[in-house]
Amino acid sequence: MNNIFEAPFVKEMCDTTANMYRLGWDERNGGNISYLLDPAMAEAYLDPKTVLRTLPLDFDASPLAGRYLIVTATGKYFKNVAGCPQNNMGVIRIRPDGKAYDILWGFADGSRPTSELPTHLMNHIARLKADPEHRVVMHCHPLNILAMTYVHDLDEKAFTKTLWRMSTECIVVFPEGVGVLPWMVCGNDAIGEATAKKIKDHRVVLWAAHGIFGTGETMDEAFGLIETVEKAAQVFMTIGQMPIRQSITDPQLADLCHAFKIQPRAGYLNV
Ligand SMILES: [Zn+2]
Repeated sequence: MNNIFEAPFVKEMCDTTANMYRLGWDERNGGNISYLLDPAMAEAYLDPKTVLRTLPLDFDASPLAGRYLIVTATGKYFKNVAGCPQNNMGVIRIRPDGKAYDILWGFADGSRPTSELPTHLMNHIARLKADPEHRVVMHCHPLNILAMTYVHDLDEKAFTKTLWRMSTECIVVFPEGVGVLPWMVCGNDAIGEATAKKIKDHRVVLWAAHGIFGTGETMDEAFGLIETVEKAAQVFMTIGQMPIRQSITDPQLADLCHAFKIQPRAGYLNV
């Protein structure tokens, strides 16, 4: 058995949480990440027969039965993950009936996975239907995107088009646009279901007055998506009070899509 502290997925979680904390995206215990692991990779670092604890789920996670995920812990601070991975995250495996999960490593001080686990698992189920290579769900509270949800219309098309116009790379990075949810109580199945409904055809969903969910096939892709949306929101919050003299027009956005051979969300560009 290899040393799990040297597992690439543990290192990736340590590096990513530290990076997100430094960027100010995850104050206090804000933010959470879950990462679907390749079974052979997981079993190279832990014994699949040694179950530390089993905890219930109150929705049907059976589409993920048998899958391993590394998940950050509830109530823990991203700034502390790298220094003590075993207390601040852990590896879980969804039980065959999808109604509970086993903890196989981590959560060593008696902690448990993020309170947003239902949303994470529902998002994984929704994204895997759209993209079998999907692996990562990431949630955090970046300053500018959070601020923007107070001052911008929450209509998805309007929000997406503003973001697309704030930086040339945006439509290339998220041509499907962003999903937007109005303010809701977090940490329960209702917000999980609402997010999963949006995330099946958007890789990014915003929670008004709260934060952002980003997904991807890799940690870099999920992180890069959030980074790009946050940069666009930063431009918007920087120039919002100034008279706009020029911007990126819809025909120019269409030219970008043509040049990069991507399909923007249908009906969003007036060309
Ligand atoms: Zn949050």
